[in-house]
Amino acid sequence: MTTTTSTTRPAPPTQVPELPADLAAGLRRLKLATVRRLAPELLLTAKTQRWTPEEVLRTLVDAELTARDASNTANRLKAATFPVTKTIDTFDVAASTIPQATFDYLTGLEWLRASANLALVGPPGTGKSHTLIALGHAAVTAGHRVKYYTAADLVETLYRGLADNTVGKVIDTLLRNDVIMIDEIGFAPLDDTGTQLLFRLVAAAYERRSLAVASHWSFDQWGRFLPEHTTAVSILDRLLHHATVVVTDGESYRMRDARRHREEHPTTNKT
Ligand code: ADP
Ligand code: MG
Repeated sequence: MTTTTSTTRPAPPTQVPELPADLAAGLRRLKLATVRRLAPELLLTAKTQRWTPEEVLRTLVDAELTARDASNTANRLKAATFPVTKTIDTFDVAASTIPQATFDYLTGLEWLRASANLALVGPPGTGKSHTLIALGHAAVTAGHRVKYYTAADLVETLYRGLADNTVGKVIDTLLRNDVIMIDEIGFAPLDDTGTQLLFRLVAAAYERRSLAVASHWSFDQWGRFLPEHTTAVSILDRLLHHATVVVTDGESYRMRDARRHREEHPTTNKT
Protein backbone atom coordinates (compact mmCIF):
# COMPACT_ATOMS: atom_id res chain seq x y z
CA MET A 1 0.00 0.00 0.00
CA THR A 2 1.33 3.38 -0.88
CA THR A 3 0.34 6.65 0.56
CA THR A 4 0.14 9.50 -1.83
CA THR A 5 0.31 13.04 -0.76
CA SER A 6 -2.27 14.97 -2.66
CA THR A 7 -0.93 18.03 -4.33
CA THR A 8 -4.40 19.32 -5.28
CA ARG A 9 -5.63 20.47 -1.94
CA PRO A 10 -9.03 22.14 -2.06
CA ALA A 11 -8.69 25.87 -1.94
CA PRO A 12 -9.52 27.25 1.50
CA PRO A 13 -13.14 28.37 1.44
CA THR A 14 -13.47 32.08 0.96
CA GLN A 15 -15.05 33.51 4.05
CA VAL A 16 -18.29 35.19 3.13
CA PRO A 17 -18.65 37.99 5.64
CA GLU A 18 -22.06 38.28 7.23
CA LEU A 19 -24.10 41.39 6.59
CA PRO A 20 -23.73 44.01 9.30
CA ALA A 21 -26.50 43.47 11.83
CA ASP A 22 -28.26 46.80 11.21
CA LEU A 23 -28.37 46.13 7.47
CA ALA A 24 -29.73 42.62 7.99
CA ALA A 25 -32.35 44.02 10.39
CA GLY A 26 -33.33 46.72 7.91
CA LEU A 27 -33.76 44.21 5.12
CA ARG A 28 -35.80 42.03 7.43
CA ARG A 29 -38.03 44.97 8.30
CA LEU A 30 -38.47 45.78 4.62
CA LYS A 31 -39.30 42.09 4.04
CA LEU A 32 -36.55 41.79 1.44
CA ALA A 33 -35.81 38.18 2.34
CA THR A 34 -34.15 37.26 -0.93
CA VAL A 35 -31.89 40.30 -0.89
CA ARG A 36 -30.96 39.48 2.68
CA ARG A 37 -30.13 35.89 1.74
CA LEU A 38 -28.15 36.72 -1.40
CA ALA A 39 -26.43 39.93 -0.37
CA PRO A 40 -23.44 38.56 1.58
CA GLU A 41 -22.15 36.34 -1.20
CA LEU A 42 -23.16 38.76 -3.92
CA LEU A 43 -21.33 41.65 -2.32
CA LEU A 44 -18.22 39.50 -2.14
CA THR A 45 -18.52 38.46 -5.78
CA ALA A 46 -19.21 42.04 -6.80
CA LYS A 47 -16.06 43.16 -5.03
CA THR A 48 -13.78 40.49 -6.52
CA GLN A 49 -15.26 40.82 -9.99
CA ARG A 50 -15.48 44.58 -9.89
CA TRP A 51 -19.18 44.92 -10.65
CA THR A 52 -20.59 48.41 -11.04
CA PRO A 53 -22.86 49.56 -8.20
CA GLU A 54 -25.74 49.52 -10.67
CA GLU A 55 -25.11 45.86 -11.50
CA VAL A 56 -25.15 44.97 -7.84
CA LEU A 57 -28.42 46.78 -7.25
CA ARG A 58 -30.02 45.35 -10.38
CA THR A 59 -29.05 41.78 -9.52
CA LEU A 60 -30.53 42.09 -6.04
CA VAL A 61 -33.72 43.79 -7.25
CA ASP A 62 -34.21 41.18 -10.00
CA ALA A 63 -33.67 38.31 -7.58
CA GLU A 64 -36.19 39.75 -5.10
CA LEU A 65 -38.79 40.31 -7.84
CA THR A 66 -38.33 36.80 -9.26
CA ALA A 67 -38.69 35.21 -5.84
CA ARG A 68 -41.77 37.30 -5.08
CA ASP A 69 -43.45 36.48 -8.38
CA ALA A 70 -42.83 32.79 -7.76
CA SER A 71 -44.21 32.92 -4.25
CA ASN A 72 -47.26 34.95 -5.33
CA THR A 73 -47.97 32.42 -8.07
CA ALA A 74 -47.63 29.55 -5.59
CA ASN A 75 -50.03 31.31 -3.21
CA ARG A 76 -52.58 31.96 -5.95
CA LEU A 77 -52.29 28.34 -7.07
CA LYS A 78 -53.00 27.18 -3.53
CA ALA A 79 -55.92 29.59 -3.18
CA ALA A 80 -57.44 28.29 -6.42
CA THR A 81 -57.99 24.87 -4.75
CA PHE A 82 -57.82 22.80 -7.91
CA PRO A 83 -58.60 19.16 -7.06
CA VAL A 84 -55.84 17.88 -9.37
CA THR A 85 -53.09 19.35 -11.52
CA LYS A 86 -54.03 19.61 -15.19
CA THR A 87 -52.21 21.74 -17.71
CA ILE A 88 -52.73 22.98 -21.22
CA ASP A 89 -49.65 21.06 -22.42
CA THR A 90 -51.07 17.72 -21.35
CA PHE A 91 -54.40 18.24 -23.14
CA ASP A 92 -54.59 16.51 -26.49
CA VAL A 93 -56.76 18.97 -28.41
CA ALA A 94 -56.89 16.73 -31.48
CA ALA A 95 -58.32 13.90 -29.36
CA SER A 96 -61.11 16.19 -28.15
CA THR A 97 -63.99 17.82 -30.02
CA ILE A 98 -62.77 21.29 -29.09
CA PRO A 99 -61.70 23.11 -32.26
CA GLN A 100 -58.03 24.12 -32.10
CA ALA A 101 -58.95 27.77 -32.79
CA THR A 102 -61.37 27.79 -29.86
CA PHE A 103 -58.79 26.17 -27.62
CA ASP A 104 -56.19 28.75 -28.66
CA TYR A 105 -58.64 31.57 -28.00
CA LEU A 106 -59.36 30.19 -24.54
CA THR A 107 -55.70 29.68 -23.62
CA GLY A 108 -54.99 33.26 -24.76
CA LEU A 109 -57.15 34.33 -21.76
CA GLU A 110 -58.50 37.42 -23.54
CA TRP A 111 -62.04 36.34 -22.52
CA LEU A 112 -60.92 36.48 -18.91
CA ARG A 113 -59.51 39.97 -19.23
CA ALA A 114 -62.85 40.99 -20.77
CA SER A 115 -64.79 39.43 -17.84
CA ALA A 116 -66.52 37.13 -20.31
CA ASN A 117 -67.64 33.64 -19.44
CA LEU A 118 -66.91 30.10 -20.53
CA ALA A 119 -69.34 27.21 -20.53
CA LEU A 120 -68.22 23.66 -21.22
CA VAL A 121 -70.94 21.16 -21.95
CA GLY A 122 -70.58 17.49 -22.75
CA PRO A 123 -70.83 13.93 -21.48
CA PRO A 124 -68.55 12.55 -18.75
CA GLY A 125 -64.90 11.95 -19.55
CA THR A 126 -64.71 14.34 -22.49
CA GLY A 127 -62.21 16.76 -20.97
CA LYS A 128 -64.39 19.42 -19.35
CA SER A 129 -62.66 19.40 -15.98
CA HIS A 130 -59.25 19.05 -17.59
CA THR A 131 -59.89 22.11 -19.77
CA LEU A 132 -61.31 24.11 -16.89
CA ILE A 133 -58.42 23.36 -14.52
CA ALA A 134 -55.78 23.77 -17.23
CA LEU A 135 -57.18 27.21 -18.09
CA GLY A 136 -57.31 28.06 -14.41
CA HIS A 137 -53.71 27.00 -14.04
CA ALA A 138 -52.69 29.15 -17.02
CA ALA A 139 -54.63 32.08 -15.57
CA VAL A 140 -52.85 31.73 -12.23
CA THR A 141 -49.49 31.64 -13.99
CA ALA A 142 -50.48 34.76 -15.92
CA GLY A 143 -51.14 36.57 -12.63
CA HIS A 144 -54.89 36.15 -12.24
CA ARG A 145 -56.79 35.11 -9.16
CA VAL A 146 -58.79 31.97 -9.70
CA LYS A 147 -61.14 29.92 -7.54
CA TYR A 148 -62.31 26.45 -8.45
CA TYR A 149 -65.46 24.90 -7.00
CA THR A 150 -67.67 22.01 -7.76
CA ALA A 151 -71.24 23.28 -7.89
CA ALA A 152 -72.03 21.26 -4.75
CA ASP A 153 -69.17 22.86 -2.80
CA LEU A 154 -70.05 26.32 -4.03
CA VAL A 155 -73.67 26.03 -3.04
CA GLU A 156 -72.63 24.63 0.32
CA THR A 157 -70.37 27.65 0.83
CA LEU A 158 -73.21 30.01 -0.05
CA TYR A 159 -75.59 28.07 2.17
CA ARG A 160 -73.23 28.53 5.10
CA GLY A 161 -73.36 32.26 4.42
CA LEU A 162 -77.12 32.07 4.56
CA ALA A 163 -76.94 30.47 7.99
CA ASP A 164 -75.01 33.36 9.51
CA ASN A 165 -76.38 36.11 7.30
CA THR A 166 -73.15 36.70 5.35
CA VAL A 167 -74.10 35.64 1.82
CA GLY A 168 -73.33 39.13 0.54
CA LYS A 169 -69.89 39.01 2.11
CA VAL A 170 -69.21 35.51 0.81
CA ILE A 171 -70.13 36.66 -2.70
CA ASP A 172 -67.96 39.78 -2.38
CA THR A 173 -65.04 37.59 -1.36
CA LEU A 174 -65.64 35.30 -4.33
CA LEU A 175 -65.71 38.30 -6.64
CA ARG A 176 -62.18 39.20 -5.63
CA ASN A 177 -61.19 36.44 -8.02
CA ASP A 178 -60.83 37.21 -11.70
CA VAL A 179 -62.50 33.96 -12.58
CA ILE A 180 -64.72 31.66 -10.56
CA MET A 181 -64.84 28.12 -11.91
CA ILE A 182 -67.91 26.01 -11.24
CA ASP A 183 -67.47 22.39 -12.24
CA GLU A 184 -69.95 19.52 -12.22
CA ILE A 185 -73.04 21.69 -12.45
CA GLY A 186 -76.04 19.39 -12.33
CA PHE A 187 -74.39 16.39 -10.67
CA ALA A 188 -76.64 16.98 -7.71
CA PRO A 189 -80.03 18.67 -8.00
CA LEU A 190 -80.36 22.04 -6.29
CA ASP A 191 -83.30 23.05 -4.15
CA ASP A 192 -85.05 26.40 -4.54
CA THR A 193 -82.73 28.13 -2.09
CA GLY A 194 -79.63 26.69 -3.74
CA THR A 195 -80.88 27.91 -7.09
CA GLN A 196 -81.53 31.38 -5.68
CA LEU A 197 -78.03 31.47 -4.19
CA LEU A 198 -76.46 30.43 -7.48
CA PHE A 199 -78.45 33.15 -9.18
CA ARG A 200 -77.18 35.77 -6.72
CA LEU A 201 -73.61 34.83 -7.53
CA VAL A 202 -74.13 34.73 -11.30
CA ALA A 203 -75.95 38.08 -11.19
CA ALA A 204 -73.22 39.64 -9.02
CA ALA A 205 -70.48 38.41 -11.36
CA TYR A 206 -72.32 39.49 -14.49
CA GLU A 207 -70.07 41.72 -16.64
CA ARG A 208 -67.72 42.15 -13.68
CA ARG A 209 -65.92 38.84 -13.31
CA SER A 210 -65.54 35.72 -15.41
CA LEU A 211 -67.40 32.56 -14.66
CA ALA A 212 -66.18 29.33 -16.18
CA VAL A 213 -68.61 26.48 -15.77
CA ALA A 214 -68.85 22.86 -16.80
CA SER A 215 -71.86 20.60 -16.93
CA HIS A 216 -72.84 17.33 -18.50
CA TRP A 217 -76.31 18.74 -19.10
CA SER A 218 -76.99 20.82 -22.19
CA PHE A 219 -78.63 24.13 -21.36
CA ASP A 220 -82.14 23.04 -22.36
CA GLN A 221 -81.79 20.33 -19.71
CA TRP A 222 -80.82 22.64 -16.85
CA GLY A 223 -84.43 22.52 -15.66
CA ARG A 224 -83.67 18.98 -14.47
CA PHE A 225 -81.54 20.18 -11.58
CA LEU A 226 -82.73 23.78 -11.20
CA PRO A 227 -86.30 23.45 -9.94
CA GLU A 228 -87.30 27.09 -10.35
CA HIS A 229 -87.79 27.61 -14.06
CA THR A 230 -87.64 31.43 -14.14
CA THR A 231 -84.49 31.47 -12.01
CA ALA A 232 -82.88 28.85 -14.24
CA VAL A 233 -83.64 31.06 -17.25
CA SER A 234 -82.27 34.13 -15.49
CA ILE A 235 -79.07 32.29 -14.58
CA LEU A 236 -78.51 31.08 -18.13
CA ASP A 237 -79.41 34.46 -19.57
CA ARG A 238 -76.63 36.21 -17.65
CA LEU A 239 -74.19 33.35 -17.90
CA LEU A 240 -74.43 33.08 -21.66
CA HIS A 241 -74.72 36.75 -22.64
CA HIS A 242 -70.93 37.14 -23.03
CA ALA A 243 -69.75 33.57 -23.20
CA THR A 244 -67.83 31.06 -25.20
CA VAL A 245 -69.75 27.82 -25.27
CA VAL A 246 -67.68 24.73 -25.89
CA VAL A 247 -69.33 21.40 -26.54
CA THR A 248 -67.18 18.41 -25.73
CA ASP A 249 -68.37 15.15 -27.14
CA GLY A 250 -67.30 11.70 -28.15
CA GLU A 251 -66.14 8.65 -26.27
CA SER A 252 -65.04 9.08 -22.70
CA TYR A 253 -61.29 9.65 -22.52
CA ARG A 254 -61.30 7.67 -19.28
CA MET A 255 -62.89 4.66 -21.01
CA ARG A 256 -60.55 4.95 -23.95
CA ASP A 257 -57.60 5.17 -21.60
CA ALA A 258 -58.76 2.16 -19.61
CA ARG A 259 -59.29 0.11 -22.79
CA ARG A 260 -55.89 1.05 -24.15
CA HIS A 261 -54.36 0.05 -20.84
CA ARG A 262 -56.15 -3.32 -20.96
CA GLU A 263 -54.99 -3.92 -24.52
CA GLU A 264 -51.42 -3.11 -23.62
CA HIS A 265 -51.53 -5.25 -20.47
CA PRO A 266 -53.82 -8.13 -21.44
CA THR A 267 -52.88 -10.15 -18.35
CA THR A 268 -54.08 -7.58 -15.85
CA ASN A 269 -57.79 -7.93 -15.54
CA LYS A 270 -58.29 -4.94 -13.34
CA THR A 271 -60.80 -2.44 -14.62
P1 ADP B 1 -65.01 15.45 -17.69
O1 ADP B 1 -64.77 16.54 -16.72
O2 ADP B 1 -65.55 15.92 -19.01
O3 ADP B 1 -65.85 14.35 -17.11
P2 ADP B 1 -62.17 15.07 -17.49
O4 ADP B 1 -61.68 16.38 -17.94
O5 ADP B 1 -62.13 14.79 -16.03
O6 ADP B 1 -63.63 14.77 -18.05
O7 ADP B 1 -61.36 13.92 -18.27
C1 ADP B 1 -61.26 12.59 -17.77
C2 ADP B 1 -59.81 12.15 -17.80
O8 ADP B 1 -59.35 12.08 -19.14
C3 ADP B 1 -58.90 13.12 -17.09
O9 ADP B 1 -57.84 12.40 -16.50
C4 ADP B 1 -58.36 13.99 -18.21
O10 ADP B 1 -57.07 14.49 -17.90
C5 ADP B 1 -58.31 13.03 -19.38
N1 ADP B 1 -58.60 13.66 -20.66
C6 ADP B 1 -59.82 13.93 -21.17
N2 ADP B 1 -59.70 14.48 -22.40
C7 ADP B 1 -58.39 14.58 -22.64
C8 ADP B 1 -57.62 15.06 -23.76
N3 ADP B 1 -58.22 15.54 -24.88
N4 ADP B 1 -56.26 15.02 -23.67
C9 ADP B 1 -55.67 14.52 -22.56
N5 ADP B 1 -56.33 14.04 -21.50
C10 ADP B 1 -57.68 14.06 -21.53
MG1 MG C 1 -65.41 16.67 -14.72
